[in-house]
Amino acid sequence: MCDCCNDEVRVRFAPSPTGRLHLGGARTAIFNWAFARSMGGKFILRIEDTDPTRSTDENREVILRALKWMGLDYDEGPDVGGEYGPYLQTQRTDTYQEALQELIDKGAVYPCFCTKETLDAKRAAAEAEGRAYEGYDRTCRDLDPAEAKARMEAGEPFVWRLKVPLDHGPIAFDDAVYGHTEFPAEVMDDMIVVRSDGSPTYNFAVVCDDTNMKITHVIRGDDHLSNTPRQILIYEALERPIPTFAHLSMILGPDGKKLSKRHGATSVEEYRDRGYLPDAFNNYLALLGWSLDGETTIIPRDVLCSKFSLDHITKKDAVFDEAKLDWMNGMYIRSMDPATWVDACRPYLVEAGANEADINANHGYYEKMYALVGERLTHLTEVSEKLAYLFWGPEVKLDEKSVTKVLKKEGCRADEVLPAVRDILADESIPWETAALEAEVEKLVEKLDLKKKFVFQPIRVAVCGNMVSPPLFESIELLSRADVLARIETTIAEVF
Ligand code: GLU
Repeated sequence: MCDCCNDEVRVRFAPSPTGRLHLGGARTAIFNWAFARSMGGKFILRIEDTDPTRSTDENREVILRALKWMGLDYDEGPDVGGEYGPYLQTQRTDTYQEALQELIDKGAVYPCFCTKETLDAKRAAAEAEGRAYEGYDRTCRDLDPAEAKARMEAGEPFVWRLKVPLDHGPIAFDDAVYGHTEFPAEVMDDMIVVRSDGSPTYNFAVVCDDTNMKITHVIRGDDHLSNTPRQILIYEALERPIPTFAHLSMILGPDGKKLSKRHGATSVEEYRDRGYLPDAFNNYLALLGWSLDGETTIIPRDVLCSKFSLDHITKKDAVFDEAKLDWMNGMYIRSMDPATWVDACRPYLVEAGANEADINANHGYYEKMYALVGERLTHLTEVSEKLAYLFWGPEVKLDEKSVTKVLKKEGCRADEVLPAVRDILADESIPWETAALEAEVEKLVEKLDLKKKFVFQPIRVAVCGNMVSPPLFESIELLSRADVLARIETTIAEVF
């Protein structure tokens, strides 16, 4: 329930499908969703597709997919329906017509016949004389109604303009983030609400939708702050309740400039493809302008849903720092349970060499891989490279540098170590599991009187192909005895 009016909280995320869902939009979506959830309210998705030149169905699908990936479930929206639909602006034309009729009946709008050429000429004249152009000069506001009617009936093109009250004091509202905010009404010209082709303007459509959808809080980027006084004038003309506004500050890159492509990936799907977990991504974005208590950084989804509040949003610009997002992603990966991890890593395990059917049939086997790399991952994508050696079968792909530095290193006796290790690993009386195998090899270390690393590193290269790999004996346990022996044989044959 809303604190001030006891209405059910209803918020909306209203993207224009003119491009992918970017970080700024994603952050707005999270704030709306978290606020709705924390207030036991409704989160609505509305697609603002009234710009036919830039809106595409593909972008709409991409936005929907991105929200699904983030797990921001909406209660009403284009693909889930709801009581206040349709949820695509292009399907709501009749509602804009009804609202226009209401304004006509109230005498709050008037037809304006001024052509674009006339208006351009006035603007140019003002500029030439060094005057600031103050917007539309209200030429048609006082047209004789009979004349206006006749011109409309004669088919002369016209737009509908809002009759901004001339005695309106400052347009004031209490923004939940910016606090008390005022705009002088005098600078608001009589804005167009419906164009000559009958289409609503952006500000008009947004207000119609927000009142018809009973939106109680408008949470959006502060690039819309300057639209707010205009929208308030439309609410007033329609005599509908004005929602609470909460404008979110900009997101900047670490260089202090507005976040853009230059700073790396900016669309949600790019982050998905780069191996971020949706929960880590949401957690990080939620902290761009909001904080739980000023210090907690790991805020799981359920805490966000119960503790989010508008009064902890700051108006200071937020700085997006990918290194922090990476850190958070690593933290979330470390807290995953192995079964969930396997499912999240599926595409990367397949890239490493696994096949889907085998993952399904032997889930438990794949879960053991979590212990090998789970602690060390920053992105899930790293799995495809880090675990590839587990899928080579009897082959080994030897890294040249590792061969030189480990196997061919002078005085390291790898040519002696590997055959001895092969014999140990071939001994079927030793159970094929980490502790037992490691204990036997430790004995070899003593017997050969070598430093441990001179025994372990050659095995690592011969089995995993590289001197850097996940834990050795845990890896060996996940491979078959036959494959491990074959790899060691191959290495001996190729290197010595
Ligand atoms: N469709 C607008 C946008 O994508 C949002 C409008 C609003 O939230 O009021 O920027």
